Amino acid sequence: MAEEKTRVLIIGSGPAGYTAGIYTSRATLNPVIYEGNQPGGQLTQTTEVENFPGYPEGVQGPEMMDHIRTQALRFGAEIRSKVITKVDFSSRPFRCEDESGDVVWAESVIIATGASAKYLGLADEEKYRGLGVSACATCDGFFYRKKDVAVVGGGDTACEEAIYLSTLCRKVYLIVRKDYLRASDVMRKRIAERENIEILFNCNTTGLFGEDGVEGAHIVRHVGTDKEEHFDIAIDGFFLAIGHHPNTEIFRGQIDLDAEGYIKVDGVTTATNVDGVFAAGDCADPRYRQAIVAAGSGCRAALDAEKFLMDHEEL
Ligand code: NDP
Repeated sequence: MAEEKTRVLIIGSGPAGYTAGIYTSRATLNPVIYEGNQPGGQLTQTTEVENFPGYPEGVQGPEMMDHIRTQALRFGAEIRSKVITKVDFSSRPFRCEDESGDVVWAESVIIATGASAKYLGLADEEKYRGLGVSACATCDGFFYRKKDVAVVGGGDTACEEAIYLSTLCRKVYLIVRKDYLRASDVMRKRIAERENIEILFNCNTTGLFGEDGVEGAHIVRHVGTDKEEHFDIAIDGFFLAIGHHPNTEIFRGQIDLDAEGYIKVDGVTTATNVDGVFAAGDCADPRYRQAIVAAGSGCRAALDAEKFLMDHEEL
């Protein structure tokens, strides 16, 4: 078991983590970044990003993350393809342990662990993962050109994914558990304009079927009522768009989280309830969930950590 000390430990590597790396390395704090299981974060699963300032022609998500990562490396951030699995924030320096048992003692910590797509929890989602089940239409939609697919969810994400898929696929079912779409007016209108999107209201998916990949889904309508009915739809792709959950499990009991598990931050700053621990990006942001917002909060967390260390005479 190796042990080391660092002034700034950054846990996570999306736009928030890498931006925090750029700022803290330029401030000569020699940050150590643990990239986690998905280096580059959620953007590595998208295709084109059109709304990040500075790319007038758009940019591929993985390419953009590589740019931000390279920028952090340029100023000396140390980036490791490892995962922090355990933290103890009860006293400073904070003890943080990685998957191989190595320990980093950190004077300050910036948490930027992001969020992950939710699944329904069906055994068949696991069985057919990569064989027709996906949580990212922009990543995988291409494989379903001229085929039939379903999207689960009634929020803005589900509508956006359904609209995107309707440009590629023959038919898109939108499986909505309530009798209305929670999505914004503009999205609902766009959905209504698409002839090849069929909304299945009051419907839940109970399972998937198929030989070597998804060939269909079992659906129940009006579950638990006297109108309950069961039927199957034939589809080749099954897309989840039922929201995200923050990747904050390892911090439970160590810092304050809200009811959904998002890290509570001061708001004016990125400070958590533990002095010296800061949070940036989607793990602390149930509202905006945008790359540019995450990058901005990574910058704020870096400046907050720098000030914290200065105030504690450790620069
Ligand atoms: P939301 O939480 O808004 O919507 C989740 C949807 O999934 C709801 O319709 C919900 O149903 C449904 N759902 C949740 N769990 C289940 C389940 N177990 N089975 C079936 N359905 C389920 O998440 P989004 O990701 O859509 O949006 C998150 C935020 O991001 C929102 O604020 C949204 O406005 C924003 N956003 C904005 C966009 C834009 O403006 N372009 C694009 C994408 C997101 P129910 O309604 O019954 O709870």
